[in-house]
Amino acid sequence: MSKKHGKHHRGQKHGRGVTDGDDLNATAGSDRPSTARWASAVDTLAESEPAALRGHRATPIVAAPGVVAVEPGARFDLASVEADADGGLDKAWAKEALDTERARIVALQERLYAERSRSLLLVFQAIDTGGKDGTIRAVLKGVNPQGCAVASFKVPSSEEMDHDFLWRYHARTPGRGMIGVFNRSHYEDVLVVRVKGLVPEAVWQSRYGRINDFERLLTESGTTVLKFFLHISKAEQKKRLEARIADPEKHWKFDPADLVERKSWDAYQQAFADALSRCSTPDAPWLVVPADHKWFRNYVIAKTVADTLAAMDPQFPEAVKGIAELKVPD
Ligand code: AMP
Ligand code: MG
Repeated sequence: MSKKHGKHHRGQKHGRGVTDGDDLNATAGSDRPSTARWASAVDTLAESEPAALRGHRATPIVAAPGVVAVEPGARFDLASVEADADGGLDKAWAKEALDTERARIVALQERLYAERSRSLLLVFQAIDTGGKDGTIRAVLKGVNPQGCAVASFKVPSSEEMDHDFLWRYHARTPGRGMIGVFNRSHYEDVLVVRVKGLVPEAVWQSRYGRINDFERLLTESGTTVLKFFLHISKAEQKKRLEARIADPEKHWKFDPADLVERKSWDAYQQAFADALSRCSTPDAPWLVVPADHKWFRNYVIAKTVADTLAAMDPQFPEAVKGIAELKVPD
């Protein structure tokens, strides 16, 4: 590997990149290592190596206040988080603050895309009506669609079922420069699959370790993994299901199967708690978001995404030498 590539990424300096809303790159300065990517064949070769070997360290996840990061290795009790917490924030304030966080995400995503070296994966899990679609819409509004890819995972197709359980998820992970969004994810295979007994227990039990290995592979390959669990109360789910029944504009969202699944509420809470406990790791911790209040949920998730992107500190590549002197021919 060339020397230049050894210092290409700034992982070692992570932790001082978190910034205020109007200051996207507090660490900007002339000591910034080169991000030129096109210099030589040796560099091109180095680009195809795992990011860990190219000098990557996992980016610290920066959780906004009010978001609960599940401690790795600890037994997590979902009931310890109030689903209707609002952090004492004012709703009108949070709605404005959401705009600020979104503007930061948009600007940082452009840098991530231009750097074309690392990626960000946002994983959303929740019980039915938990707010995954609404969150994705609210948090990623305005992001360049070219730099962002959303994958929504449904009941696996027969082709997907003919493969190992991670196959379809791995195929949709974000490439360099991209933000990937998983609306449901590989966790379904230890959630719905477990609750409905779709595979024998020995099979789903073996998956927690495989999931941790999979996420470590992603992290070492330059993908920061942000996993959000949207935590709503049983009473809030009732309200949301009732709203889907009452409002003709929401009828399309109503799935009678949700009423059946609701009867398994406790089994789902148990499955969520186990997944959060067993798959919260230092590099990819689970983040529990009180989600009864949509405005609170949207703001804290947007802030977490913006702060984590800022900690990644993506850089525009170096301009070609002598660009200022270049003349465009007539
Ligand atoms: P929705 O997200 O509401 O459109 O519904 C998608 C459905 O697909 C949900 O009922 C999920 O539980 C189900 N689903 C997602 N992944 C899996 C999986 N790996 N195995 C079985 N069902 C799944
Ligand atoms: Mg549904």
